[in-house]
Amino acid sequence: VAMEALRNLIIIAHIDSGKSTLSDRLLQITGTVPAEQLQDRTQFLDSNPIERQRQITIKARAARMKWGHHRITLIDCPGHHDFSRQVSQSAGAVEGALLVVDASKGVQAQTLSSVELALEAGLELLPVINKIDLPTADIDNARDQIEHLVGLDASDAILTSAKQGIGIEQLLNAVVARLPAPQGSPHKPLQALVFDSYYDSYRGVVLFVRVVNGVVRRADRITPMSLAESKEHLDRPTEYVVDSIGFLEPHEVPCNQLHPGEIGYLTAAIKRVGDVPVGDTLTHCGDDAAEQALPGYEPSRAVVFCGLFPTDSSDITSLHVALQKLQLQDGSITFEPDSSAAMGTGFRCGFLGLLHMAVTQERLETEFGLDLVASTPSVSYMIQTQGSDEWTLVSNPSVIPHGHVKIQEPYARVEIICNQDHVGALMDLAQSRRGDLKDQRYIGLDRVKLVYSLPLAELVTDFHDAIKSRSAGFASMNYEIEGMRQNRLKRMDIHVAGEQVDGLSTVVHEDSAFSDGRWIVKKLKDVIPRQMFKVSVQAVLGGKIIASEHISPFRKDVTAKCYGGDANRKKKLLKKQAEGKKRMKSIGRVTIPQEAFLAILSGK
Ligand code: GDP
Ligand code: MG
Repeated sequence: VAMEALRNLIIIAHIDSGKSTLSDRLLQITGTVPAEQLQDRTQFLDSNPIERQRQITIKARAARMKWGHHRITLIDCPGHHDFSRQVSQSAGAVEGALLVVDASKGVQAQTLSSVELALEAGLELLPVINKIDLPTADIDNARDQIEHLVGLDASDAILTSAKQGIGIEQLLNAVVARLPAPQGSPHKPLQALVFDSYYDSYRGVVLFVRVVNGVVRRADRITPMSLAESKEHLDRPTEYVVDSIGFLEPHEVPCNQLHPGEIGYLTAAIKRVGDVPVGDTLTHCGDDAAEQALPGYEPSRAVVFCGLFPTDSSDITSLHVALQKLQLQDGSITFEPDSSAAMGTGFRCGFLGLLHMAVTQERLETEFGLDLVASTPSVSYMIQTQGSDEWTLVSNPSVIPHGHVKIQEPYARVEIICNQDHVGALMDLAQSRRGDLKDQRYIGLDRVKLVYSLPLAELVTDFHDAIKSRSAGFASMNYEIEGMRQNRLKRMDIHVAGEQVDGLSTVVHEDSAFSDGRWIVKKLKDVIPRQMFKVSVQAVLGGKIIASEHISPFRKDVTAKCYGGDANRKKKLLKKQAEGKKRMKSIGRVTIPQEAFLAILSGK
């Protein structure tokens, strides 16, 4: 197929605006997936069980479709912020994007950050107004919002009903007519962008690639270009032989070679996903190697860390094995042994964000049958103890020594895009999170861009939710790590029934330490269940108790409520209690549930 006949695109859509239904329709009308198959299984592109359960897309999928003599390849990529790197990687593999807007709801918040990423990547955007069959559809309003909030001309937006199959052909014709064909040369040295990958226990890692220049064939010797730059992964192999290659429709269709502009998969006996990271450029080994990697590669960086501890300490070996297996599939997870008197033995793990952390904990529990407790998440800090002039990186507040310690914390450059009406509320929020305003400007009729320098610790918790709730959902944000900055920070510990619970230690700013401490012990009082005895909860800063609360004991045995003889009901109650025991850690005489470790984060 000639390069002029290729079209590559991603779909940007708010949750529930019909992205999956529309993708299914495109696959059906182009005859890519037979109608019978779509009937047994809708949402063809979401295949991971957690994706289906949570109704979110975590991994990108690609599907090549035939439309006349054109070949249209659609990449479905994740929408959540933790995985935004995957959106930018996928954006690097295509020329265009469909912006799907629900006709009854108009432009919704989540799409805006993806729109920014797509525009930054230089993609051509094609607006699609879906659900026009609904009685509540307001097409003019949707058009207005696309023009005002997104800044796109929406007069020729495509109108569809994915549900009823209306407008799908017009949409395909518009893709061909209005999105650009890829560019590139088969005669230049090979440059193929890895935009996603997954681990297959039989074949090794399966890479999803977009060829930009050159041609890649089966049996070619290839190398990932990030190797030359990275010093961290010296144990990575330098050369691979392509053992299978093909298109995705969305199942694998083997072929002999991929040309510039084409999107497909390849395998090359790659053992770990981290060996050829997403965003990397593949080239040929030897004299044919490209001189430069494609832009956009950034090693994935864990920003949130927590200790993972099995509730049953004999599961520690199983947890280690599980983490090793998971790391084969997800190169962005880091882990190292961790132990403490209170929490026992476990692993300190690093994640891309809190959702990534929650999804990983869930996978460890469902796929590996473990029951885990995660400690309070934190960012990493640089510390310098008195008398020393060396800075050490720590990702666990409970190892920061007491006394005179200088602490640096990571800062992020945050860009917030919002409506003019919400500027005030968002500035208040950013200020309460210790943000410094760097820039403020109009970028559309009534859209404003705010740039802040903000501590990462304030950002990774609930900042994203907070800006959504203060902007009726319409503000969007993106951030990148700027560097470390020294602040008046202190480690704060929590004592429960007189015992220090390392997993609850945090780092607080001196100015807010007292109010943070009071807030945290109040919160813990609510989430730690009553015990048989009175339990004290204290916040301790530099050896001094700065806040304390008490949890009063139970009065009666729970089962005492059941009237005599109703054995069944009694059994049910006990069973309920047993289930409630999951995700709990016994510390001294007190049992602390998972919620307690997370409660500290929210709403400080
Ligand atoms: P996604 O979250 O963007 O992938 O959205 P889905 O494709 O899962 O669709 C969300 C809901 O909207 C489902 O109940 C769909 O049946 C429904 N839906 C999708 N497209 C349309 C449409 O064109 N019209 C109507 N009335 N409902 C639709
Ligand atoms: Mg979906």
